[in-house]
Amino acid sequence: MVSTPGIDVSVPPTGEGCVECDAAGGWWVHLRRCAQCGHIGCCDSSPAQHATAHARATGHTVVRSFEPGEDWFWSYETSSFIDGPELFPPASRPAGQAAPGPAGRVPSDWESHIH
Ligand SMILES: [Zn+2]
Ligand SMILES: [Zn+2]
Repeated sequence: MVSTPGIDVSVPPTGEGCVECDAAGGWWVHLRRCAQCGHIGCCDSSPAQHATAHARATGHTVVRSFEPGEDWFWSYETSSFIDGPELFPPASRPAGQAAPGPAGRVPSDWESHIH
């Protein structure tokens, strides 16, 4: 199999929530997974946009949706959706997990905080 730059199928995701939001007590709209190192970060609609911040800080160029039922990859290099292989499981956050999430940390006026 030809490997794609920015994608490592042998690395598991870091967890079930955004690494930085979980550390800071923050919340997110949707989750993205770095296809190279497994970092879970929050999407660009989220208040803190940690997935994109991670890509900028590390030079890792590809994220995959970490939402149940979504299997698209996004290349920051080309600003386009790309095809990618099956990554190390799990492929998404638990389906029962709230979005926006996590439950208990989303303010009632969350819609005024998103991008
Ligand atoms: Zn975050
Ligand atoms: Zn990464």
